[in-house]
Amino acid sequence: MPELPEVETVRRGLEPAMLGERFAHVEQNRPDLRFPLPERFAERLTGRRIEALSRRAKYLIADLDDGQALVMHLGMSGRFIVEAPGTKPTEPGAYYNEIGRHLIHDHVVFHLGSGARVTYNDVRRFGFMDLVPRAGLETSKHFAGMGIEPLGNELSGELLAKLFSGKIAPLKAALLDQRLIAGLGNIYVCEALFRAGLHPEAEAGTLATPTGKPREKAHLLAQIIRDVLEEAIAAGGSTLRDFAHADGSLGYFQHRFKVYDREGDSCVTPGCGHLVKRLVQSGRSTFYCESCQKRG
Ligand SMILES: [Zn+2]
Repeated sequence: MPELPEVETVRRGLEPAMLGERFAHVEQNRPDLRFPLPERFAERLTGRRIEALSRRAKYLIADLDDGQALVMHLGMSGRFIVEAPGTKPTEPGAYYNEIGRHLIHDHVVFHLGSGARVTYNDVRRFGFMDLVPRAGLETSKHFAGMGIEPLGNELSGELLAKLFSGKIAPLKAALLDQRLIAGLGNIYVCEALFRAGLHPEAEAGTLATPTGKPREKAHLLAQIIRDVLEEAIAAGGSTLRDFAHADGSLGYFQHRFKVYDREGDSCVTPGCGHLVKRLVQSGRSTFYCESCQKRG
């Protein structure tokens, strides 16, 4: 499943092909993905120009010139393939998707005015697309009640303290709560807590003073969350699954994780000597170092 950095990588890969272009023709090969596609979907897109391509949490949003927004979600296995005239097809963010591409899973094809083709392929069909009035985007079912964007300038120590003040929920659970911060996934929360030296079972409220002011560790954690995400985007994303080359050696991206999926391995902190532990919180695996990550 692509996480936020993967979705952002896909966005950056699609932008050169789609921004400023018109949908010359849209092929819709089935009535539904995870949900039914909108009524007259292909017809409503045809002729429209893409004025912006943005991302909110794990959603891609194409602003169209008639006041609509095309909202797209990759689900578990959604992918876009970009084919421009005279160039080899590219698949932005392809590293997260190890399943081979079969044309039978090409569900929607955007033919753009430039002659480029952008194909949405999705084996498991947990992805979806919707058309929403741009003016009502924030209050639409997709975005209503959604927390702040972890990559944006909104995320700060002050805001973490405000969101978490008085909360006795474990820090890990609070960071994964999409109503507080949207699109921050399990891998990146594990990595950020390790780097910040904060125990995943610490109470979320300990980021704030009794009067709700940010403690130093709130500022630190906010900065680290942004760093972890930015680094993953710079590296072209990460992979959720173990990634192994044909010769059995591990893929590049996994080496970037300091604790995630490293249960029983030595902690990477020089001189620590402890082994990475795993615990299950809200049904999700948490990887951490008991010695480096403090509860207080
Ligand atoms: Zn350690």
